[in-house]
Amino acid sequence: MTSNHLFSFIREAATLHERPFLETPQGRKLDYGDVLAGSARFAHALAALGVVPGDRVAVQVEKSPEALLLYLGCVRAGAVFLPLNTAYTTAELEYFIGDAEPSLIVGDPAKHEAFKALASKAKVRAVETLDANGKGSLATKAAQAPDDFEDVSRAANDLAAILYTSGTTGRSKGAMLSHANLASNAETLARYWRFSDEDVLLHALPIYHTHGLFVATNTVLFSGASMIFMPKLDPDELLRQMPRATVMMGVPTFYTRLLRHKGLTRDATRHMRLFVSGSAPLLAETHREWQERTGHAILERYGMTETNMNTSNPYVGERIAGTVGYPLPGVTLRIAEPETGAALPKGSIGVIEVKGPNVFSGYWRMPEKTKAEFRKDGFFITGDLGKIDEKGYVHIVGRGKDLVITGGFNVYPKEIETEIDAIPGVIESAVIGCPHADFGEGVTAVVVKREGAALDEAAVLEALEGRLAKFKLPKRVLFAEDLPRNTMGKVQKNLLREAHKDIYVQ
Ligand code: AMP
Repeated sequence: MTSNHLFSFIREAATLHERPFLETPQGRKLDYGDVLAGSARFAHALAALGVVPGDRVAVQVEKSPEALLLYLGCVRAGAVFLPLNTAYTTAELEYFIGDAEPSLIVGDPAKHEAFKALASKAKVRAVETLDANGKGSLATKAAQAPDDFEDVSRAANDLAAILYTSGTTGRSKGAMLSHANLASNAETLARYWRFSDEDVLLHALPIYHTHGLFVATNTVLFSGASMIFMPKLDPDELLRQMPRATVMMGVPTFYTRLLRHKGLTRDATRHMRLFVSGSAPLLAETHREWQERTGHAILERYGMTETNMNTSNPYVGERIAGTVGYPLPGVTLRIAEPETGAALPKGSIGVIEVKGPNVFSGYWRMPEKTKAEFRKDGFFITGDLGKIDEKGYVHIVGRGKDLVITGGFNVYPKEIETEIDAIPGVIESAVIGCPHADFGEGVTAVVVKREGAALDEAAVLEALEGRLAKFKLPKRVLFAEDLPRNTMGKVQKNLLREAHKDIYVQ
C-alpha cells in the first residue's frame, strides 16, 4: 500500500464523511464519493498524458469544480500543481512557463492557440483545455478514465504545489509548497476554527491563490465539510446563499461590499458561526461596523503564499480589530531587527519572522533568493513589519518595502493611516513615500472620503495636528475616488507611488 501524504488525509475524511462536498448556485452537486472518483479520473488522465511524479502541471483556468478535481488529481499523481492567475496575459505566462518548465499546460479553450505557441517555444509536451463549465479536452479524457487510482507515494517533504507570488516589486517567485506544508496547515486551521462535517462554507474566492485554494478548500476537505462554490464575489448571490451556510472566508473587499448592501442584517447572518478575513488588512472600522450590523466579530488572520497561515485571532476569546491575533499552534513567530535578525523586545516594531511546518521550502530555482530570505536558524523573513502587544496579539504595520523614510526617520504607514481613517468623513487612506529633494521621501497621504464630506487637504492636516509627531505628518494629502486594489483586495501602493512620483520633484 502506497501512501500519499496530503491525499491520505483527504481520503480519510472523504471515506469517513459520506456527505455533500460542493454545490454551485447553478445546481451542480458533488459529494465526497465524487471527490474520490473525479480526482482519480483526472490522475489517470494526467498519467496517460505522460505526467510523471515531480512534473509540474501549469493550470490557468476559470473557477469550476473540475479545476479542484484537477488539483487533487495532480496531488494523487504525484505531480506539482501550478495554478496561474486568470488575469495573466500570454506575454506574462511566457515567463512562468519558461521558469517552471511544466510537462503539461491546462488552459481555457479560448486561449488554446496561444498556449500551443507557448508550449512549442518552451518545449512543453502537452496542452489540454478546461473551461468555466468544467468542459474541455482534459475533462473529456478524465471522463473516459477509471474512477479508481492507486495514489502515487509521496512523502511529507515532496512538493505538492508551486504558487507564484504576486510580485508587485521585482520578478514573481515560485513558492515551493510541500505535502506537509499544506496538510499541517489544513489540520491546524480545521481544528483552530472548529470545522466539522456540519459546516457549509461560502466560497467566492479565486482558486489560483493560497486563500481560496488551500485555506478554504483544504480546510473544508480535511473536515468533511461542504461548500457553496461561487464563480466570483457577487454580494447579491452571497446574501442569497448565506441562509444555507455557516462560515464565510473573504478578503476585506467582501466585507466592505456586503456592508454597502441593504440585505446585510442580523437576521441574514443569524445562523452563521464564523466570518474569516485575510490576505489584506481589514480596517478596524469595517470590523466595528460589521459587528454592529450583524453581531458577529470578524476573525482576522494573517498568512502568505510562502507560509500558508501564520496567525489568527482566537475562535473563543477576544477578536481584536486591527490585529491578526496569535501565532497558530506549531508556528513560532518573532519580531526581529530587519538588518541583523536580532530578536527585538515586546512592543517594538520590526520584521515578522516565522518558522514551522507551514513554511515553504524555498523559491523554485532561486537558491540565492531563498538563502537571502531565511535566517541561519531557519526562520523565514516575511518582509512584513509588525509588533507583538502586551496581550500577545500580532499587529501588522505594513510591508517593509512600504516603509517611508523621511529625513532619516522611519514612518510606518499604518500608524498614519489609522489616524487619518479616524477623521470623520474619511472612508480609508493609503500613506506612501514619494521622492523628495530635502527629505529623501515625503510622507504622502491618499484619502478616500465619504460622499458629500466637506473635507480638504487643510482639514485633514488640521485634524492630525498634535496627534502625530511633526516628521510623520503628511507633506501632501491627495484625494481619490478609491484606492487601486488587486483581486485579493491588497492596495497596490506601487501604483500610487508611480502615479505620484513627481509630486515633490518636478
Ligand atoms: P499573498 O502571498 O498574496 O497571500 O500575500 C501575503 C501578504 O499579504 C502578507 O505578506 C501580508 O503583507 C498581507 N496580508 C495577508 N493577510 C493580512 C492581514 N490579515 N493583514 C494585513 N496584511 C495581510
